[in-house]
Amino acid sequence: MRFIIIALVLLFVGLLNYQLRTHDQLRYNSLSDRLLHPFDTRLRYQIADVDPRFGISQQELIELTQQATDLWQNASGQKLFVYDPDAQLKIHLVYDERQDNFNAFKKMETTLNTEQNKNQRVSENLNTSQAYLEQLQTSIQQRRVLIDAEYQNLNQQRLSWSRLEDNQGENRQRIELQYQQLKEKSQQLKNDIDYFNQLNAQYNQQVDQYNHNIHRFNQNVTHAKQQFPAHEFHKGVFMGREIQIYQFENKDDLLLTLAHEFGHALGLKHNQDPKALMYPLMKDQNLQDFRLSPADLALLQAR
Ligand SMILES: [Zn+2]
Repeated sequence: MRFIIIALVLLFVGLLNYQLRTHDQLRYNSLSDRLLHPFDTRLRYQIADVDPRFGISQQELIELTQQATDLWQNASGQKLFVYDPDAQLKIHLVYDERQDNFNAFKKMETTLNTEQNKNQRVSENLNTSQAYLEQLQTSIQQRRVLIDAEYQNLNQQRLSWSRLEDNQGENRQRIELQYQQLKEKSQQLKNDIDYFNQLNAQYNQQVDQYNHNIHRFNQNVTHAKQQFPAHEFHKGVFMGREIQIYQFENKDDLLLTLAHEFGHALGLKHNQDPKALMYPLMKDQNLQDFRLSPADLALLQAR
């Protein structure tokens, strides 16, 4: 009898050991869970309290972890994870200066983009104004040339007629009338030149303002680069009993960060494909419609 019990215990320990070798993730289940569910090779995880500043509920997070684990489960055709509120492995969303900093960076980025779009629109308007002013200037110059020519013509006519006729003649009256009309034209031209100068002054003011805004924009960009130097950092970390996530931009981003850390929980190391889930940084992956890359699948198969 004793022999049978010892044999059964040995068999059971052997089973647990065998499972451990074939299912890396079991290392992170508690011993009591393994004894309680000896034939269940899924990794049990739970979600610790979620800081409300992340703006995501615990339920939403549970759903995201299920989508994240599905990435691995669908690829392997195995059930690898299970949510268990008493599990040893806890997922923590840690809100600290990293997320604060990231939020500030995003806000700054939005402000700068808005400013840049505005500058772009102003620049387009200024180009239109400039083209209009150039056109106006050309037409004014042409009119001026015409009026000068008409004056010269009239002066010559007056000279030649005055030699032949007295000052009271019919031609003299016609010439005076033409002078009168020409004077009115000149006055109109002068008004238009005043109007042009006014527009031009306005335009120059707008250009000054624009240059000032561009200068300020460039200063803001420099300032932003100093404040948020381009560096890439991990958004999460897997530590055996804990998955900590520090930072995410949106749910897609969080989903992949979770899936990456779950990948580590399956015993996977990093790979060198920037589009892969197991690349050390979340940067070039297709967040919206993510598929495991061949490099990820190779890691999964090799484990
Ligand atoms: Zn990693």
